[in-house]
Amino acid sequence: MAGNAKLLHETLWDQDPELMDLIRKEKTRQIRGLEMIASENFTSLSVLQCLSSCLHNKYSEGLPGQRYYGGNEFIDQIELLAQKRALEAYRLSPEEWGCNVQPYSGSPANFAVYTALIEPHGRIMGLDLPDGGHLTHGFMTQTKKISATSIFFESMPYKVDPVTGLIDYDKMEETARLFKPKVIIAGISCYSRCLDYKRFREIANQNGAYLFADMAHISGLVAAGVIPSPFEYADVVSTTTHKTLRGPRAGVIFFRKGVRTVKANGEKVMYDLESRINQAVFPGLQGGPHNHAIAGIATCMLQAQSPEFRAYQEQVIKNARALCAGLLEKGYSVATGGTDVHLVLVDLRPVAITGARAEYILEEISIACNKNTVPGDKSALNPSGIRLGTPALTTRGLLEKDMQQVVEFIDRGLRLSKEIANVSGPKLSDFKRILHEDSTFSEKVNNLRKEVEQYSEQFLLPGYADF
Ligand SMILES: *Cc1c(COP(=O)(O)O)cnc(C)c1O
Repeated sequence: MAGNAKLLHETLWDQDPELMDLIRKEKTRQIRGLEMIASENFTSLSVLQCLSSCLHNKYSEGLPGQRYYGGNEFIDQIELLAQKRALEAYRLSPEEWGCNVQPYSGSPANFAVYTALIEPHGRIMGLDLPDGGHLTHGFMTQTKKISATSIFFESMPYKVDPVTGLIDYDKMEETARLFKPKVIIAGISCYSRCLDYKRFREIANQNGAYLFADMAHISGLVAAGVIPSPFEYADVVSTTTHKTLRGPRAGVIFFRKGVRTVKANGEKVMYDLESRINQAVFPGLQGGPHNHAIAGIATCMLQAQSPEFRAYQEQVIKNARALCAGLLEKGYSVATGGTDVHLVLVDLRPVAITGARAEYILEEISIACNKNTVPGDKSALNPSGIRLGTPALTTRGLLEKDMQQVVEFIDRGLRLSKEIANVSGPKLSDFKRILHEDSTFSEKVNNLRKEVEQYSEQFLLPGYADF
């Protein structure tokens, strides 16, 4: 092949070996490592096929039946299918709920929700980031408004009890009475317990606020019906589709339709969320929808209705519980004392290991996780815990008994980090240097990494064989 034809028709590996080599290396990393980042998962072959399909080529601004471009006959059908299956996956009636499947991801979805519901500087209230909330729930510090949701809206956090690690609902109620938010957000990125949506609803009602559930982390568990659903109480629900739901990297917003409240005189007040949310997504914040991702949503929402998917989500929780039990048995502490979901927040203060050191040593032995603040942490910059999740490992087929081996590897890694820290002193840079320069330590780390990698390699990964 030559000329333009070569550019167009040659495979990636023939045309761009430099990039292909990096993709293959990443694939090898995914196969060899134990992926325990709680927000990650390995999506299915069918979702990957949607993502690299011809749908990527099409512009389709607008909604099905009301597009700004021609040629959308099949794109319309695909988007309608994605919407229908999204409602089915959460057992929602199309009379009471609608959805928008165009958000590019979770953060844009949330920004669209605020844009739809409130004016600039409208008040929002979400779980504080260091307590397990998400940036997009209004995070700011003393000196800086970090998330755009705190730049364009006024945010007031609610928090967990520093001792129990549980959300302090009474305090939230009291703060909400003073702050009078227009939106209360029920959603987590690092909290291992189910949310009390009924209580959230009561507090929202006391303030005439919308209840917005951001189920990004738990949407797979909710679809499978293995934890309580926010839909019974929320006005609006957003989700990412690539975490526990195991679909493409994208977002969905669900909104209520029909009667919102009935006044004392019997007059019905209707929801007007459908047009507000649809317009906030496009033309408010986005342009052309990612049709390849929307197809991925359609197929993942079909999978989410299957008995196999339910069994997978049950196993995700069983594995998280086994992981938690194993860590407790080894003498580690866990925030809130346990887990009801797919993640465990390990509090490393009692064993005097910093979150940063733990994350680093585990990465060195091919276990991926992230450092995280734990309830009562003094500094958000130097967090004292790590967040561990089971969705990705469960996709690879690991069961409770395998969690025992995983706990063993984590414990050996963490104990090694203590040995190294005893020599290196408190600075992280010294810790990293000694780990690599001291031959006894580096050999121990290398041996442990080999063991972890040999172990991981036996478990299958969905997707293409080598990229
Ligand atoms: C991951 C997450 C998001 C953001 O999703 P992105 O796709 O990373 O933008 C929003 N809310 C919560 C609760 C999340 O966990």
